[in-house]
Amino acid sequence: MTPNLWSQNTPDLFWQCDPNPTAEQWQEAIQKKISILGLPNPPPDSATLVEQILGEGQFGPSRWHLSTAKRLYYEVKPLMPRPVIVALRKIYSRGAEDETPAQWPIEPCYATFLWEVLSEVQAMTGGILRHRPLWPNGHPYAFVLTHDIETAAGQSFMRTIADIDESFGFRSSINFIPERYKIDYGLMDELRERGFEIGVHGLKHDGKEFQSKQVFMQRAERINQYLKDFQAVGFRAPLMHREPEWMQVLEIDYDLSFFDTDPYEPMPGGVMTIWPYFVGRFVELPYTLAQDHTLVKVLGEKTPHLWLQKVHFIEQNRGMALINTHPDYLMDSAVMEVYISFLRHMKARGGFWNALPHEVAQWWRRRASEEPLDEFSGLTGRAVDVPIIPKQQGQFA
Ligand SMILES: [Zn+2]
Repeated sequence: MTPNLWSQNTPDLFWQCDPNPTAEQWQEAIQKKISILGLPNPPPDSATLVEQILGEGQFGPSRWHLSTAKRLYYEVKPLMPRPVIVALRKIYSRGAEDETPAQWPIEPCYATFLWEVLSEVQAMTGGILRHRPLWPNGHPYAFVLTHDIETAAGQSFMRTIADIDESFGFRSSINFIPERYKIDYGLMDELRERGFEIGVHGLKHDGKEFQSKQVFMQRAERINQYLKDFQAVGFRAPLMHREPEWMQVLEIDYDLSFFDTDPYEPMPGGVMTIWPYFVGRFVELPYTLAQDHTLVKVLGEKTPHLWLQKVHFIEQNRGMALINTHPDYLMDSAVMEVYISFLRHMKARGGFWNALPHEVAQWWRRRASEEPLDEFSGLTGRAVDVPIIPKQQGQFA
């Protein structure tokens, strides 16, 4: 097995069963269930398998390279009026769902695969096989709210969004761009005091952060400085441009730049998972719900039903519902109505663990450690019983 950035996430390490089946049993179960993933060349070992899925290897060696057309677009974008940019986005988004190999808005293959592998090893060992709880305190799923502030206007509107999140009893994380607008440090302090979390959203957000390794490394030094200034441990790349090898130089605890499935981003791909996972030195928390502007502005949705449908799937599979919205877009009343309606439905739903990204990352590291989790699971022993394998929507509803 060749270790890679994703090798801490193989199915056995994901489930952490007690008693732990043998390596051969895991391998046999994986090979039996691997067809669920629909990979063109099923890999021989589980480290390569997670590299194909979580490392997006299935999308080819140039998966994190921007096409020449997109590079050019970021060169001329500062000169274009906003309506032209929105129109262009709409054009290149048309039919995006049909082009991507990942399904959207729900990509069920990896979640189904993991549950089926667990079920298989359970059958092989013939006894009581338990796994570590996926979430603390018996919560069936996690709910994480994040916001990226794109402009100075968005920054001015952020307090209103914080008030709204708070009015439903939620806390969220807010990512600031260090060198695009004048940072309101007073607002940052206030948000932190109110229980929100601050993160760093790129450096300039000009589409050039990941232009080349050299540019990224230069910018990463400044980003690391801003992480300290902002008392932040988390990062989200602008425009979901990403390169996990390069990103290892960031002094972060977690990252938010990946998604399970989203054909509407400039680098489409998708990591297919609805759980956190380790990427070398940091914990990745992929967003699993469509972005606000995609949902309302590109797709023209007037209700949060696509978000809620996905939340239902995530709850069934014990995953993480992580959403990314923007004060800049929420200033538009059409977007705001959908967002508020979503929060109202979520509050009524309940049951989830509403956590800040740094808490989720901390939990995920703790879960992967040898530390006993009894006080978290509320049960004796190392883990909780395997829940019923979700096969169809509605089974848990
Ligand atoms: Zn952004």
